[in-house]
Parts: sequence; C-alpha cells; structure tokens
Amino acid sequence: AAKAAGRNTFRFYDEAMNRRASQRLALETDLRRAVVRGQLELFYQPQIRSADGRLAGVEALLRWRHPERGLVSPIEFIPLAEEAGIITELGEWALAEAARQIVAWRRQGVAVPRMAVNLSPRQFHAADLADRVERILAAAGAANEWIELEITESAAMAHPEGAVQVLRRLRARGIHVAMDDFGTGHSSLAMLRTLPLNVLKLDRSFVQHLPESETDAAVASAVVTLARRLGLSVVAEGVETEAQKHFLADIGCDLLQGFLFARPLPAGEFEAWLARAYPS
Ligand code: C2E
Ligand code: MG
Ligand code: MG
Ligand code: MG
Repeated sequence: AAKAAGRNTFRFYDEAMNRRASQRLALETDLRRAVVRGQLELFYQPQIRSADGRLAGVEALLRWRHPERGLVSPIEFIPLAEEAGIITELGEWALAEAARQIVAWRRQGVAVPRMAVNLSPRQFHAADLADRVERILAAAGAANEWIELEITESAAMAHPEGAVQVLRRLRARGIHVAMDDFGTGHSSLAMLRTLPLNVLKLDRSFVQHLPESETDAAVASAVVTLARRLGLSVVAEGVETEAQKHFLADIGCDLLQGFLFARPLPAGEFEAWLARAYPS
C-alpha cells in the first residue's frame, strides 16, 4: 500500500510539474508575440537629487500587459525571455522606446536630464553592444549623453575583461553606465577599481532597514564614501521613508529612487507627477 501511495504521490507531482511546464511554455509563446502585438510598455520612475530635490533622471522599467493575465512583472518574464533566447529583442525594444520617450519629452519641454535602461547579461556580452546601442539611439534622435545603461554585478563578473572593453566602448561614446543592485552580487573591490562606471546603485536590501540598523547604516556609509572617492555617483534604490531619505542625504548619497517619491508610472502619469512635483 505504501508503495502504491508513493507511486501516486510521484504521479501527482509529475502532473503538477507537467502542468507548470506547459503553462510556462504557453507564456513563452505569448511572450514571443508580445513585442509585435504591442503588449510591452515602459513605466518610468524618477531619480531625485538629494541636495536640492531636483529631478536627475528616470529609470525605464519594462511591463508586459498580457491580455488575460493583466500586468506581468519583469521579475516573472525577464528570466523567461532569457531562456527563450528573446531577451535581446525585448531589451532593444525597451532601449528604442526609452530613447523615443526622452526625445519626445525634451521636445515638449519636459526636462528629463537622463534615461536609465536596464540591460540583461546576455545583451551586455554581445561583442557589438556599443554599436547596436548607438544605432538605436541615433534612429530615435537621442543624444548618447541622455542615456544610462544599468548592468548587474553578475553580468560584469561573468567576463571581467570583456566587461571592461564593453564599458570603455560605451563610455567613449558618452553613454553612461550604472552598476545595478550593488552589493548583492559578487563583485570585488578590485572590479570597482577597473570598471569604468559612472554610477553605483546601492541595492534596496541595504536601504530598507535604514536608519535603525546600525550594520546597514555602516555598510551604506562605507559604500557611499568609497564610491564618491572613486568619482562615482550613488543612487540609493528603494527609498520609502523620510527617515531613509534624510539618512542617505546626510551620508552624501547623491541620488535617491523609491516609492517615497513615486512608483514606476506609465508615461502619461509620470508627466502628471512631474507637473505636480515641480510646478513651474
Ligand atoms: P531593478 O532594475 O533593480 O529595478 C528596481 C525595481 O525596484 C523595480 O522593480 C522597481 O519597481 C522597484 N522599486 C523601486 N522603488 C522601490 C521601493 O521604494 N520599494 C520597493 N519595494 N521596490 C521599489 P520592477 O519594475 O518590478 O523591476 C524588477 C527588475 O526587472 C528590475 O530591477 C530589473 O532587474 C528588471 N527589469 C525591468 N525592466 C527591464 C528591462 O527593460 N530589461 C531588463 N533586462 N531587465 C529589466
Ligand atoms: Mg535597474
Ligand atoms: Mg536595481
Ligand atoms: Mg533591484
């Protein structure tokens, strides 16, 4: 009997796994069509200068408006796109759209100094990345200086020598580069010294327990001091409270991003937020 139950249990898991696998496959098929069907969107979240509260830039964050599932999170579909081998297509769509949007805003007199766009590790390691990026920006009429690409520690660490080359080529073209989610990956201090970065983004996990956590306060201050001594600016991610804002400003963190200021918003709502936050 035990044996039979065991077999049934096994079969139960088997079916659940199959069901999950086929749901995944269905989602992947949908995702392949999402670009051409116009279901992808960018949301925009402001980055605020701690010194004077001005807008320093905007991060573009990808969303998938699925006809039945509603808004799907990038945490769900980015890994899927990576596995399906379509992340480059999605990533380049996002870059083109972000470039188009900053051009449109600047033409309308909406003063957005810079647009940050996330890059997947796969995109980052394409040998011709800098050329591809430059072509996309030129096609949209965006200046290279308006764009910042966010890479992750793990992407940089996978091929450190390649990463230095790619970053040099981007920097040579005036494109800014930020290290996203800093502190969660495995980059070493030696890497920080070699990588030609402009910006370090302190991961939300180091911000969320500020200012109460003495350990996190020590880590955040040390990272900000180090980054600034290296000539980088620092963006604190996930700023949700006034107390976090004040602490970060006190330790010299240049830029703040988080729900305290605004959640990622669709373009139209972002414009409305800007008009409210900075009445002219
Ligand atoms: P990320 O690049 O680190 O983006 C920041 C994430 O933190 C965003 O999640 C944002 O909504 C969230 N966030 C911002 N402020 C706060 C806050 O105060 N509190 C909390 N709890 N969360 C906050 P989102 O939009 O769900 O994106 C998740 C991740 O998906 C991004 O993390 C990025 O790694 C990836 N992603 C998004 N768009 C793209 C894209 O176009 N290409 C690639 N390759 N990855 C993308
Ligand atoms: Mg990012
Ligand atoms: Mg981040
Ligand atoms: Mg993050």
